[in-house]
This record gives sequence, structure tokens and C-alpha cells, in this order.
Amino acid sequence: MSQPVEVDVVIVGGGLAGLAAARRLDRAGVEWLLVEGSDRIGGRVTTDIVDGWHLDRGFQVLNTAYPRIPALIDIQALDMRYFTSGVLVRHGADLHRLVNPLSEPLSAAATLTSGVGTLSDRLKFAALATRCATLPAAKLLEARETTTQEMLRKAGLSHRMIEEVLRPFLSGIFADRSLDTSSHVFSMILRSFARGRMGVPAAGMAALPAAIAGPLPYPQLLIGARTLSLGPGMVVTEGGEIHCKAVVVATDPATAAELLPQLPVPDMHGLTTFYFGADQAPLDEPTLVLDGDRREIIANTVVVSNAAPEYAPSGKSLIAASVVGVSAPSAASETVIRVELSRMYGVSAEPWELLEVASIPQALPSARGPQANLRKPVNLGDGLFVAGDHRDSPSIQGALAGGWRTAGAVLAWLGARVPA
Ligand SMILES: Cc1cc2nc3c(=O)[nH]c(=O)nc-3n(C[C@H](O)[C@H](O)[C@H](O)COP(=O)(O)OP(=O)(O)OC[C@H]3O[C@@H](n4cnc5c(N)ncnc54)[C@H](O)[C@@H]3O)c2cc1C
Repeated sequence: MSQPVEVDVVIVGGGLAGLAAARRLDRAGVEWLLVEGSDRIGGRVTTDIVDGWHLDRGFQVLNTAYPRIPALIDIQALDMRYFTSGVLVRHGADLHRLVNPLSEPLSAAATLTSGVGTLSDRLKFAALATRCATLPAAKLLEARETTTQEMLRKAGLSHRMIEEVLRPFLSGIFADRSLDTSSHVFSMILRSFARGRMGVPAAGMAALPAAIAGPLPYPQLLIGARTLSLGPGMVVTEGGEIHCKAVVVATDPATAAELLPQLPVPDMHGLTTFYFGADQAPLDEPTLVLDGDRREIIANTVVVSNAAPEYAPSGKSLIAASVVGVSAPSAASETVIRVELSRMYGVSAEPWELLEVASIPQALPSARGPQANLRKPVNLGDGLFVAGDHRDSPSIQGALAGGWRTAGAVLAWLGARVPA
């Protein structure tokens, strides 16, 4: 399709934030066009299908309790495959279980006398998760903002519980081992974990952006149209100039700072996923395994196909191992990962086939605490707007809520009716 030369609103970037913004503008009846630079929508949420394997570009999960989901996605239609609520923690020769006290109260009671950490740790963690899950979000955000580490200490959790369970778990979520992420971001993440279920669509995570884009008029999604520059009332793509009233920059954070020099250059964290194929699953449940031995190499690992058999060819198992930072594929790194996986599962990972190393240097923006305001301004003036996880929180929810919020700001600026 040829590129229009004039439209009311141009959205630059077709990741989750750009798509959520398009949905809200579309619903309000505003004329919009989305220009996506790559050859597909979805941005950081995408799936490669290789020889029958579904490899999300970086292992990630959708949490069903993310508040922005119901307005944008029919979760039933995504045909979700769920992971166990709770985790297993490798500690020496043992695998300990930590369950979600809200979704499995009976098992939680049973693991109060066994499993991870001391009884006091498990009670305190259950109290913290319950508090985050049950208090109104606004109340949680009224609490003094600090870092995740400080919040965990204040909750009375022991050094061991933090180092052997929570640091490996949270480092995989924030792509950062330091635990200096804002306590407000952590509260919101813990809230979603305690209230929802973690899973992947049977067809791969790429089904998520596809579902958000589903109701949109396809011709208004211009794929393969990279934006070279922009300013008030104008976007220049490889296909030429587009004149408009408002521009929404919904690119990744680094590109947003290039296109809008008034934005700070973001501090980003990297994540690497090693995908292996095996003839036999090393574990027979769909549960995240954490490294409680403080080796700090693999943050978490999971047999993805135990939850979603569709991710592997028939009779095979798909194992994902997430590593914080960027790990270039090399014989040395592969050997280390196989050694670590053998230890964490208690079976040899030697015979497994390495399928892909998905190394994402700019996986997540840092949200170091205190942030002062989780919702950063999105109206930059002169009809220029910005949306994305770097303006809200580093997550799928942050991108969706951010795109929705920015579209609301655009509608208000245009003087259009703002539907909820
Ligand atoms: C490995 C990994 C694991 C993750 N795990 C989780 C998880 O388990 N749970 C969770 O909630 N979140 C997770 N996330 C975070 C989540 O995926 C992101 O926060 C979210 O997808 C960001 O969406 P976005 O729309 O803000 O940005 P992006 O997805 O980066 O979208 C930006 C879009 O802009 C396009 N673009 C860039 N430059 C231009 C240009 N010049 N012109 C036109 N288009 C351009 C890009 O191609 C892209 O499509 C993970 C992320 C990664 C990478």
C-alpha cells in the first residue's frame, strides 16, 4: 500500500504500546496511521517458528492479571497454556517448592513446614504477596518508594531468602541482578503474580500483538516503513513525508530518544535465552526452576513444552534458560549453560540440541528506585507524544497501559471525545 501524505495522528512503532494506542484512537473515531519499521508488528514480543519449534524471541510470559488486558484482548481466544503457580528452587541436592499463597492456599499451608527458607521467611513472604494482591493499587503506590531490596529487607525477609530465591527470581523479571528496581514497580509486579496466572498462547507470544491488532483496519498498519525523523506535524519515513496533527512515538526507548532528543537516553538491561530441544523432559511439570545455589549464571529455567506442547515438535521437549545480560553464542557459553542446566535439573543436558540463543541487549528499561512517578509525562508539547514501557513500567502491562494512556492524552489534545 502506498503511504498517505496526510492523516490526523501518526503512531511510530507497532509494538504493544503503539498497537494499544491505535486501538484507543480507532475506537474514538480519530483518523490514524501506524508506521512500523520492521517487517512485523509486536516489537519485543515475537515468535520464531523453526522446524516445528516455537521460540519466543526471549522467553517471556503473559500474566493474566495485568489490568490493561481485558480492554484489549479476549484472553480465552488466546488459547493460553499455563505454568504452575509457584517455583522450584534448586538448593544443593534438593529441589524446594515455593507456592503462590493466594492461588494455592492449601499447598501454601503444607509448604509452611518445608521447602524454601525458614518458616518465618515463608510466612513473611506470604504476607507481603497477600498485601500487594489485596490492597488497592493506589494504596500500594502511596507507600514510601524505595528499592526492591530495601522493601524485601523491611518486610523482614532473611538474607538467605533474598539471595537464594528472590534475587534469582526477580533478576529474570527485571533483567537486572541488583534489586535496585523501584519498590513501586516491584509491588505492582508482585500484585499481578499473586492475582493472576502466568502463561503463553498456544501459538506463541506473537499471538498477543496479533490479537491486539486483530480488530484494527489492516491498511492503517504500514509495515516496513521506518521513520527517519519527525517533528511537530510531520513524520518522515523511508516512503516520504506524512503531515499530521499529532505524532505518537511508540518505538523502543533508545530509538525514542533519537527521534525525540528532549527524552533522556534510557538505561537498558539485556536478557539472553538459551533454547534447547530434548528427547525427554528433564522435569515433568510446567514449573519455573530457580538457582538457589547463588551461581548467578542462569536466572531461571523452564520446560516450556510441559505447559505448551505446541511449542515443540511431537515427542520433543523445549527447555528455556534465561540469563541476565547479553551472552553471545559461543562454544564456551554453551558449555557453561549445559553444566548449569545439568545441575539445576539433576540430569545431563549434554545430549540436548541447542536450538537458538536469543540475545536481546535492550530487553527492558531500568526502573531504578525511587522513580518519583511511575507514569512519566507523555505529552511533550507541539503535538508530540511518547508511549512505551519506558514511560510506564518495564513490562507488557507497562507497554499496554502506556499506549492506552498516551492515546487518551492525544484525544484530549485534539479535543476529541475520550472513551474510557
Ligand atoms: C527477552 C524479554 C523478556 C521479557 N519478559 C517479559 C515478561 O515475562 N513479562 C512482561 O510483562 N514483560 C516482559 N518483557 C517486556 C515486554 O516485552 C516489553 O516491555 C514490551 O513488549 C515493550 O513494548 P513497547 O511497545 O513499549 O516497545 P517495543 O516492543 O520495543 O516496540 C517498539 C516498536 O517500534 C518499532 N520501531 C523502532 N524504531 C522504529 C522506527 N524508526 N520507525 C518505525 N518503527 C520503529 C520496533 O520495530 C517495534 O516494533 C520482556 C522483554 C524481553 C525482550
